[in-house]
Amino acid sequence: MAYTVKEIFYSLQGEGAHTGRPAIFCRFTGCNLWNGREDSRKAADCQFCDTDFIGTDGNFGGKYTAEALAKQLLALWPLDSSQQPFCVLTGGEPAMQFDEPLKAALHALNFDIAMETNGTLALKAQPDWLCVSPKGKNALALTAGDELKLIYPQPMHEAPPESFAKMAFTHFYLQPIDGLAKDYRADCVAYCLANPQWKLSLQTHKLLGIE
Ligand code: SF4
Repeated sequence: MAYTVKEIFYSLQGEGAHTGRPAIFCRFTGCNLWNGREDSRKAADCQFCDTDFIGTDGNFGGKYTAEALAKQLLALWPLDSSQQPFCVLTGGEPAMQFDEPLKAALHALNFDIAMETNGTLALKAQPDWLCVSPKGKNALALTAGDELKLIYPQPMHEAPPESFAKMAFTHFYLQPIDGLAKDYRADCVAYCLANPQWKLSLQTHKLLGIE
């Protein structure tokens, strides 16, 4: 199968349990909850997206075989590093494309594979680290994993944290919604203090002004 990729870049993981960890990010093209076009945002199943996942016009974007994609990711990892290479598969929705052949190609190059998914699709292959970020009232197909990262609050107060608290995730993170007039950081802090199962996640890459 050919994998369609919007962009690939090397940066620090900005959010959640791996915050601060150097990672190769692979942003796949396409999402099952929105087509990415502004003129259809209001009719989309997910309406607060801040990511451009259309096309293949970003850095190292294109269509790849599994082996070529794994090789391209590794090419961005520091050459002299003895550290196991770490990649974050994101999107768009990476579960639409990540499968056993790509997992095998990445593992053949010794990658530690993390995925950030909206959790609405069954996985074709299990990554080494699974982060589910629920979106509105869209039902989750994935209710277990390493990390549940909830943008808070969500529009119309859909997806309240309480509705996920009993799911089988190791870490539960609350991350303030961005891009609105109100700053919701204090609301997230208050919720975590009142419900210590939840930890605060901040978009540190935005705070630092890095990619
Ligand atoms: S699920 Fe994620 S990638 Fe898809 S539209 Fe929503 S925020 Fe964007």
